[in-house]
Amino acid sequence: MIGDRCSRDVKARTKEKMHNRRLVSKAVGGAGRSRSEHSWLPATIPFKSVAFVLLILAITGVSLSALAQKQPKQRAQRDVLTSHSRDFLSPEAREMVELASAVVCKERAKDPKGSVPIDDMQARPSLPVQSPEAVAGAKRAQRLLPVARSMVVTSLRRLSKEYAFANTQAGGRRLLRAIARVEAVRNIRPDVGSRDNASVFLRNPHTIVFGTIFLAGLPSDEGIISVLAHELVHIADGSEDGLGLLFRAVGNHASKLTGMKIHDQKAEELTCDLVGTLAAGYYVSNAPSYEPLSRRLSRSMEHNCVDQDEGDDDHLSPRSTIRALLSLNPTLSRDLVYGR
Ligand SMILES: [Zn+2]
Repeated sequence: MIGDRCSRDVKARTKEKMHNRRLVSKAVGGAGRSRSEHSWLPATIPFKSVAFVLLILAITGVSLSALAQKQPKQRAQRDVLTSHSRDFLSPEAREMVELASAVVCKERAKDPKGSVPIDDMQARPSLPVQSPEAVAGAKRAQRLLPVARSMVVTSLRRLSKEYAFANTQAGGRRLLRAIARVEAVRNIRPDVGSRDNASVFLRNPHTIVFGTIFLAGLPSDEGIISVLAHELVHIADGSEDGLGLLFRAVGNHASKLTGMKIHDQKAEELTCDLVGTLAAGYYVSNAPSYEPLSRRLSRSMEHNCVDQDEGDDDHLSPRSTIRALLSLNPTLSRDLVYGR
C-alpha cells in the first residue's frame, strides 16, 4: 500500500494479470469506523503506559529530531526488518506500532504534500489527463520511475535475504528473473478511467497505468515512489508467480506478528506495500531534505489514513495495512515516532 490496492479479478478471467487499487465502497455504520480499526490494539495495554511513553517522547523529541536531521542516511541504512527473528510483538513493540500509526496520519493532516486518503480519492470526480494536477503527477511518476526501479531491486534483495528466499539455486534464479522484469519497466501511462487505481497488465509489462485521480492524490515524491514500487513488485512476480514463496513468508510472518490472517493475495499485496515503504525509505536516505524525517516516511503509507476502513478478499483494510507494515518493520516505527 502501498502503495496501492490491487485485485486479480481480470487475471482469473483472461489469464492476464491486472492489479488495481480497489477500495470496498460499501457503507460502514456509525461515524465511518470499521470493525478492524480498533480491534488490533490488545486490551491489555494500559492507558497510563501509553501516556508515559508519550511523555518520554515529548521530553526527548527535540534532541532526537536534531539527530534525525543530521544523520538521515545512517538512520535509513539501518532500516532493516529486525523483528524477523521474533514471531511475536512485545507489549512495548505493540505500543510503538500504535504510536507510529498515529504519527503517520497526523503527519498527513499537517503536510502540504500529504497524500489524499484512498476513500476520499474514490469519492472524487474523474480528472482529465490534461489537468494540471494530473500532468504534474505523471511527470513526477515518470521522473521517479528509474529511482523506484533501483530501490525496488535493493529492497527485493534485502527481503530475499531476510526471508531466505534466494538461498537455493532455484530461488536465486527466480530473484534474478524478477529483477530483470523490474528493470525493463519504462513507461507511466496516465488514464482517466483508472481513476484512483494503478495497474499493470502483464501483456504489456513495461508500463504502469496510473489513474489521474491517484496521480493527483499523491503530491510527494515519497508517495509516488511507494506506489510505483508496489506495482513494480507485481511485475517482478510476473505470470509465473516467481515471488510466491517470498510473499508467503512475509504473509506468514505478518500473520504471527499481528494475529491477522494474511495469506494468498493478501500476502502478495502486503509484500508489495512493504517494498513500497522500504523503497521510499531508501529514497529519503539518498535525497536528504530539511523536512522532518517522520513526515517524509509517513508519505509512503498515509494514503491509507481512511475514515472508511474496509478490507476485502485480497486486501487488508487500509489501517490494518499500516499496522501490519509497522509490525514488520520496527525500525520504521521508531523513526516515525522519534524522527521529528
Ligand atoms: Zn497490488
